[in-house]
Amino acid sequence: MQEIQAAILAEIKKYQTIIIHRHMRPDPDALGSQVGLAEILRQSFPEKNIYQVGGSVEGLNYLAEMQTVADESYQGALVIVTDTANAPRISDERYNLGEKLIKIDHHPNDEPYGDLVLVNTHASSCSEIIADFCLAFPEELTITAAAARLLYGGIVGDTGRFLYPATTSHTFEISAELLKYDFDAPKLNRQLEQISRSVAKLSGYVYQNIEVDKKGAGKIILTKELLADFGVVDSETAAVVSLPGQIENVLAWGIFVQQAEGYYRVRLRSKGPVINQLAKKHHGGGHPLASGANAKDLAEVAEIYQEIQTLCQEYQEN
Ligand code: AMP
Repeated sequence: MQEIQAAILAEIKKYQTIIIHRHMRPDPDALGSQVGLAEILRQSFPEKNIYQVGGSVEGLNYLAEMQTVADESYQGALVIVTDTANAPRISDERYNLGEKLIKIDHHPNDEPYGDLVLVNTHASSCSEIIADFCLAFPEELTITAAAARLLYGGIVGDTGRFLYPATTSHTFEISAELLKYDFDAPKLNRQLEQISRSVAKLSGYVYQNIEVDKKGAGKIILTKELLADFGVVDSETAAVVSLPGQIENVLAWGIFVQQAEGYYRVRLRSKGPVINQLAKKHHGGGHPLASGANAKDLAEVAEIYQEIQTLCQEYQEN
């Protein structure tokens, strides 16, 4: 790990222009790791051009905004991608126009794209990896309050406020370190957990209508019409994904969110059974207990739910 960290720092020092990407449909960890790193590099190397790029930040503008970068800027540049397991999920496909590519991530390393790869699947979040990286070189890399806020926000986001199993004592150590910087953590926590009235109503719908079988397999379908009735857009469904986990006896669940094109984006979560193999079978992937996939129609939705049921049954029997 230390060798890769040192190799990444050496590349950062070599390049005049560094462009940082993250995954599509960003969450707080994607933005936190991406822009947190950008802020640290700006502070540490004021003479370099450091950019953060990618599509819309969908309701997370309070964390960070993206920058516009011309195609020419990629010439001879170093590109770093954070929090993104697979190349097709990288937001802004120009990521491969640079001279050198570095992947920094905490998902299973299914696709080791990049000339240098720093993957730590034991980290709670990619923000934790970025914080580790910077803290490993205190003489050369400077964390600012803005960077600490972003990284802390990423950790809080990906650990569900330090609740999910990927949270370790090291996660707390890093978080404690970040909290030493001068940013308003209570305000950030409120921003991260704030939901709109529409999402509050949708939450009620999810609690009331989730289907749960005897083995703890949960399923709820959110159709286009339903989302329109609630006045909720796809990105806002992130706020309801973890809710079924609070219900007793719910073990693993899928939230099937219908997209404008008709197919379903599948958001899978688990409190025990490993669900990322299932996700991979359905054009997705992710962590053992938090994955995403796609279902082309209701038949595939039913198939996926059946597979969740089987996983729950097997888990209960072992
Ligand atoms: P989500 O339900 O979108 O919050 O996704 C949960 C996790 O699954 C994320 O950490 C993603 O890395 C992963 N994931 C979601 N969708 C996909 C996909 N289509 N392909 C690969 N991984 C995905």
